Amino acid sequence: MHGLMMNMPLNISSLIRHADRYHGDTEIVSRLVEGGIHRYTYHDAHRRSRQLANALGALGVKPTDRIGTLAWNGHRHFEIYYASSGSGAVCHTINPRLFPEQVVYIVNHADDRCVFFDLTFLPLVEKLAPHCPGVKNWVVMTDKAHMPESSLPLMCYEDLVNAHSDDYEWPDIDENAASSLCYTSGTTGNPKGVLYSHRSTILHAYGACMPDALNLSARDVVLPVVPMFHVNAWGLPYSAPLVGAKLVFPGAQLDGASLTALFDTEKVTCSAGVPTIWLGLLQHMEANGLRFGSLNRTVIGGSACPPAMIRTFEDRYGVQVLHAWGMTEMSPLGTVNTFKNRHLVWPKEQRDALQNKQGRVIFGVDLKIVDDDGKELPRDGKAFGDLLVRGPWICREYFKGEGGNPLRDGWFPTGDVATLDEDGIMQITDRSKDVIKSGGEWISSIDLENAAVAHPSVAEAAVVGVFHPKWDERPLLLVVKKPGAELTREEMLKFFEGRVAKWWIPDDVVFVDSLPHTATGKLLKTKIRDDFKNHKLPGA
Ligand code: AMP
Repeated sequence: MHGLMMNMPLNISSLIRHADRYHGDTEIVSRLVEGGIHRYTYHDAHRRSRQLANALGALGVKPTDRIGTLAWNGHRHFEIYYASSGSGAVCHTINPRLFPEQVVYIVNHADDRCVFFDLTFLPLVEKLAPHCPGVKNWVVMTDKAHMPESSLPLMCYEDLVNAHSDDYEWPDIDENAASSLCYTSGTTGNPKGVLYSHRSTILHAYGACMPDALNLSARDVVLPVVPMFHVNAWGLPYSAPLVGAKLVFPGAQLDGASLTALFDTEKVTCSAGVPTIWLGLLQHMEANGLRFGSLNRTVIGGSACPPAMIRTFEDRYGVQVLHAWGMTEMSPLGTVNTFKNRHLVWPKEQRDALQNKQGRVIFGVDLKIVDDDGKELPRDGKAFGDLLVRGPWICREYFKGEGGNPLRDGWFPTGDVATLDEDGIMQITDRSKDVIKSGGEWISSIDLENAAVAHPSVAEAAVVGVFHPKWDERPLLLVVKKPGAELTREEMLKFFEGRVAKWWIPDDVVFVDSLPHTATGKLLKTKIRDDFKNHKLPGA
């Protein structure tokens, strides 16, 4: 016997329709690439998304065609999200920080029909275009006054939108149909496409809003620093309209001064980004003696958030840190660090230690850890093993079957090594490729990096395993000092005493001016390992 409830497909267009109808006067504010601030409402965004949907139709875009974007966080990018997915096409956000050859590969692999791009990326597009014959239209996301000179036949976004009426009915789409596409920024091999569906996107958007997740509401002002090309800005362009939160898009200016200015003028309550972004912002705050006004929480994820950063946000600035974990293949949210009642009465030190973990699993995601033979390990907070996930917003196969079947007995292997406890609180020990294997035991590079950045002179740290004739590998620490700070190798190594097990203490320290990052802001461990593979450890 079937239930007798309406069978309405979960469609992305319903988010913008809802936001228009019930939060129509709520603002969307964008810092423009052309300069200045753009301000309009959900009502306007819905109208222009419908105009753009008509424009896509006029360009000959058909359901399931891929629409590429090379763009910062802004209102036009938001409109493309809704016009493309809402009309049945697939919104394909491309990470412009990848090497041009990788972008060419991605555009061609995805068969992008049109590519929309911000002015910033014209030089990149001019390089790509000759190698991407399948792209029929290159559209500059700007107005006529700012259209650039180019040898390419470029279209102007505003002209395109303005040439079409807003008389458009969003079609009913099979909820399992593809809605958007995002390539993983793999550190080896070609990027692989994760193809989200309308259903997975809506369920994830619901999950993300929950009180023990990002706790979003109509009273929030959300500023996603995380780019819309990095797992759809962690779903915020969907979750914000779902609850009617005001959105603030920072455009291309992600430096501390530009962000704090927006936080203040727009009364931002909630933000989200990777640790490297917050590093710059906190340095700016400290150097200028600034405080956060309305910001009450910030989501930090994408790579391990150093405990020192959590403490600075919470203890110095009174901003709650929601330490979160996920991945492109998970839309991305898997865990968010929020406390249960019984944690609230713990002594501060114990609560702080708990908060350093990647967080508690949210409904919709199932987690387990397994040993090398695939045997499930206990949820005791101590055993650690390969972390596997499953759920309705987790990838079951990559676009075009790339890489074969990724699943293990129906579970997606994350490539992370973690512990899990009976509350579902997960802690990443390391990426399985990054753990340091010393004399048959494992050393967590994340734990060592976290310990190092707790030193007041350290801005950023990376730890990699380096060959050792006796132990196979031993940890090497690379340190970027804070501007003007003094620190010696001996002082640094001494700092680890009592903070980590003695045999974990790195064998050597190298001071560097900067560390390499991936296109999504993670430490580029492959490059660091490569650069230091011949480093001779003292005593080795
Ligand atoms: P991406 O698909 O680019 O978002 O990368 C996903 C990977 O980033 C995960 O598998 C983790 O290795 C890492 N990651 C994401 N969030 C965290 C976190 N809070 N702590 C540690 N690693 C993280």
